[in-house]
Amino acid sequence: MRPALLNPLFAEVTSLPGVGPKQDGLLRYLLGRSETPRLVDLLLHLPSSVIDRRNRPKVRDAMTGTVVTLEVTVDRHRPPPPRNKRAPYLVYASDETGDVVLTFFRGRPDYVEKMLPVGAKRYVSGMVQMYDGIPQIIHPDRIVDEAAFAKLSGIDPVYPLTEGLAQGSLRRAIAQALAKLPALPEWISPEVISRCNFPPLKDALTRVHVPQEITDILPDGPFWSRLAFDELLAGQLALTLVRAQLRRPAGNRHAGDGHLRHKIIDALPYALTSSQQQAMAAIAEDLSKPVRMLRLLQGDVGSGKTVVALLASAAVAEVGKQAALMAPTEILARQHAKTIAPLAERAGVKVAILTGREKGKERRDILARLESGEIDILVGTHALIQDDVVFKSLALAIVDEQHRFGVRERLALTSKGEAVDVLVLSATPIPRTLVLTYFGDMDISELREKPAGRQPIDTRAVPDTRLGEVMEAIGRALKAGKLVYWICPLVEESEAEGTDHLTNATERFESLQKRFGADVGLVHGQMKGAEKDRVMGQFAAHEIKLLVATTVVEVGVDVPAATIMVIENAERFGLAQLHQLRGRIGRGSEASTCILLYHEPLGQMSKSRLAVIRETTDGFRIAEEDLKLRGEGDVLGVRQSGLPGYRIARPEVHAQLITQARDEALRILKDDPKLKGPRGEALRCLLYLYERDEAIPLLSAG
Ligand code: ADP
Ligand code: MG
Repeated sequence: MRPALLNPLFAEVTSLPGVGPKQDGLLRYLLGRSETPRLVDLLLHLPSSVIDRRNRPKVRDAMTGTVVTLEVTVDRHRPPPPRNKRAPYLVYASDETGDVVLTFFRGRPDYVEKMLPVGAKRYVSGMVQMYDGIPQIIHPDRIVDEAAFAKLSGIDPVYPLTEGLAQGSLRRAIAQALAKLPALPEWISPEVISRCNFPPLKDALTRVHVPQEITDILPDGPFWSRLAFDELLAGQLALTLVRAQLRRPAGNRHAGDGHLRHKIIDALPYALTSSQQQAMAAIAEDLSKPVRMLRLLQGDVGSGKTVVALLASAAVAEVGKQAALMAPTEILARQHAKTIAPLAERAGVKVAILTGREKGKERRDILARLESGEIDILVGTHALIQDDVVFKSLALAIVDEQHRFGVRERLALTSKGEAVDVLVLSATPIPRTLVLTYFGDMDISELREKPAGRQPIDTRAVPDTRLGEVMEAIGRALKAGKLVYWICPLVEESEAEGTDHLTNATERFESLQKRFGADVGLVHGQMKGAEKDRVMGQFAAHEIKLLVATTVVEVGVDVPAATIMVIENAERFGLAQLHQLRGRIGRGSEASTCILLYHEPLGQMSKSRLAVIRETTDGFRIAEEDLKLRGEGDVLGVRQSGLPGYRIARPEVHAQLITQARDEALRILKDDPKLKGPRGEALRCLLYLYERDEAIPLLSAG
C-alpha cells in the first residue's frame, strides 16, 4: 500500500484548477504517460532553461531579439477595427525614453483591458521585436503590477513543451503541484547528505521550479543532483531487491554433457566466433554452478547473440529442462523462432512460439505440450508471462532487449520455474558504467567480434532537398535486384504534435508505390501482428523489394539480403537508434549502403550525431560517443534525452552518482533488508515516488 502521506502527490493533474481534458492529453504526451499524469509527474518535469527577468532596460535600450522586462505606463488601446476583426489588438505604452507596442492577436478585449488599464504602471516581459521602427512585444509572457512584481524572483523556469501547451499554463500547473508537496521524511542517510552536500527534497524541488539564480537549474548543481540521486537510489534499491531474490542459491545444476550443443554446432553453416565461444563457456559454467545465473550478453546487432541463446537453451535441454526466450515485439519473437527452430530440431530439440496471436485451440495445444515437457524451448512475447502459461520445468529465462521490459516482467518469467537462471540479451551496447543503472550487478559477456565475412557499410548523409536524386538511385538499385529499407519516423502525423516536417510513413509508401509499383511494401507498429509478418515475409522472399517501415524494424529483424537503407529525418533519431536501424543491413556477404536523409538546418547536436554514425559501425564506440553527446537532446521525444526509464538522472552528468547510489542501496538492504525501521518507511515513499514500487512486494517475499 502506498503511504497515505503521498496521496496529494498522486492526485491527477486534472484535479488542478485550469487543467482540463485538453491539457490532460497534452501533458500525457509531454510526460510520456498513457494515463492522466499525477502531480508528482509534473514535479519531476524539470526546466531546460530559464528566462532572466532581471534584464530591465529602458525602452530605448531594449535590444531586438532579447527577452526583457520593461517598466511602462499604459497610454492607449487600439482594438481591431470592426471591419477587420483579424487585425491585432494593440496597446501603446511608454517610459521616459520611448514608446513600445504590445500586440495581441485574437486578444480578448476584456482581458487586455483588465491587464493593461490606461494610465497604470505595469511590468511587461517578453521578446522585443522591431516593427515599423517601433519596438514591440507580441503576446507578452508576463504582465504584472508593482505589487506582484515585487514578489517575483526575477527568474522564470522554461520547461520542455509540446505543441499546443503554453509555457505559462505549464508553469502555473507546476506551481500548484509544488504548493501541494507534503513534508516527507528524509530517506538519504546523513553521511551521504553531508558528503554530497545535498539539500532537503523540498528545497531541491522548490529551487529548480522557482529558481533564485540562473545556476539553480543546472543538472550538475546541488538541487538537480539531489533529485537525480533520489531517482538513481530508487532504481538501485529495486534492482538490488530483485537481484537478492534471483541470487538465492539454486540447488539445481542445469547444464548437461554437451551432446545437444555439439549436434547444433555441427549443423551450423558457419564456425562460432571466438567471442561466441567464450560467452558460451561462461554461460555453461554459470549453469553448472549451484548459484543462479544472472548474466548479460551484450553484442552489437548482428553479432550473433541468437545462436548463443540457442546453445544455452540446448544446455538445459540436455538435462530435460526447459528454456523460455522472451522478446519485446512480435516480429522479433518470430524472427528468433525462425532462426532457432531448424537448428534446434536437427538436434531433436523442440521449439514452439507463443505470442498474442496464438489463440483458441492452437494456444491450448501449445500450453498442453509445454506442461507435459514436450516443448524444450518456448519463444514468445510478454504473452509468455500470462498466468496460464505453465512449464513442466523451466530452468532458463532468456530476455531479449531487456530495457524494454520492467523488473516486473523479468520476475514474472523467472517465477515460472524453480531457481531459474537468467540470461539477458542486449543489442544496445551499454558502457559498463551504465550497466548498473539498467541491470544492477550482473555478470557480463560481450560479443565484440563480428562474424566473419561481414562487409563494411558505406554511410552517407544527404540533405532531403536531394530526395529526387536518392529516389533515382533507389530505382537503379531495385532494377539491379537489391532489397531496400526505407525508414520513416512516424506512422501518422497525429502521433506527435509539432512535427509537421516529419515524413508520414503511409504517405511515403504511397508516393514510392506510385513510382515503383508492386515492389513496395509497408510495415508499421500499428499493423496487426499477422499482417506485419506477412509483409516481412514477402520482403525476405524478395516479393517486395522496397520496404517502407517505421522503427518497428529497429530491433532484431534479420533479412541478410537487404543491403540498402534510407533513413528519413535522420536528424531526429538518437545515435543508438540510428545504429540499431542501420544494423539491419550489412548482415550478408554483400557490401551495403546507408543513406541518412536529413532536414536542414541541422543543430550542432544532430550534426555531431550524423558525423559519428558515418564514421564508425562499432556499437560500443557509438555508445560512448552517445554518452558524451547526450543531454541537450533533440532526439525524438523529450523522454529519450536522458537514460531510458529515468527522468532526471543524466548519464553524462551523474555517472558518479550511479555508483554512490548502488553502494547506498547495498548498505541500506544490509542493515534493514525488509525496510522496516523509520528510514525504511521513508525509503518506501521514495520507491513509490519514482515508480519502483514493483519491488515492494519482494520485501515481504521469502
Ligand atoms: P544478433 O541477435 O546479435 O543481432 P543474430 O544472432 O541475429 O545477431 O545473428 C545475425 C546473423 O549472423 C544471423 O543470420 C546468424 O545466422 C549469423 N551468424 C551468427 N553467428 C555467426 C558466425 N559465427 N558466423 C557467421 N554468421 C553468423
Ligand atoms: Mg538478435
